[in-house]
Amino acid sequence: MTARSPASVEISDYWICRTCGANREPSGTAPADCPVCEDDRQWVPRDGHHWATREQLEAEGLRTVFRPVEESVVGIGVEPGLGVGHRGVLVRTGAGNLLWDPPGFLDRDAVAEVERLGGVAVVASSHPHMYGSAVEWADLFDAGIALPEADAHWLQRPSGRVRTWSGEHRPLPGVTIVQTGGHFPGSAVLHLDEGPGVLFTGDTIMVTPGGHHVTFLYSAPNRLPLPERLVRRVVASVDHLDFDRIHGGWWEPSIGSGAKELLARDAERYVRFLNGDLPAYD
Ligand SMILES: [Zn+2]
Ligand SMILES: [Zn+2]
Repeated sequence: MTARSPASVEISDYWICRTCGANREPSGTAPADCPVCEDDRQWVPRDGHHWATREQLEAEGLRTVFRPVEESVVGIGVEPGLGVGHRGVLVRTGAGNLLWDPPGFLDRDAVAEVERLGGVAVVASSHPHMYGSAVEWADLFDAGIALPEADAHWLQRPSGRVRTWSGEHRPLPGVTIVQTGGHFPGSAVLHLDEGPGVLFTGDTIMVTPGGHHVTFLYSAPNRLPLPERLVRRVVASVDHLDFDRIHGGWWEPSIGSGAKELLARDAERYVRFLNGDLPAYD
């Protein structure tokens, strides 16, 4: 691939939902709806949907930022925040890079930086709130898009690059994506076979403030809990993996050690609360 300078990068002027970060094809008029926002797990502003074009957001001052997350993992965020405010990660392997949970906006500097880091072979996401600019990234780097069969219909910008999978998917050596369900039926976590093992969980397994615990929710903005059977399914689906750390879908907090044992303990704690076993009422 010929190296591109930021000035020579051509990005299409696609639509971005300001509320959830979803993308739509470039077109002359703003979309009138957003199925992701209209779903029980998200929300629609009182004055209706807000779509902006990528160029509009850039003119407003949005920009991408890069920070190291793990030895072979670089985080890609957007400032100020967009949609659910998450950051993505570029997982670098000798056989190509995986872009996980890309934010809904990207700029020319981001494309040049990702190219310098080895480009993108595959784009994948933890769940539909974090599909972001998957299609634009895949088009820019001639990459594939791996989406779980159960959730692929949530992608609002159609692409012939989508390949669906179910259960478990290993897009690159040392990189495994596991369908855990929970927040969405196709919710997935990314396992990295690096050191004692690392999980990237989006908001399927949420790390709570302080980084001492993890929790589960059907909807974070609407404060809707996840039923016990789904919590148990999430935990069981990663039982065969070794991992010591958990990174959620945001820069912080993370679980820095002992994550597998913590997940099992906190799942039991969550179920106790669901069932009304509240320490304050002992
Ligand atoms: Zn939306
Ligand atoms: Zn979500």
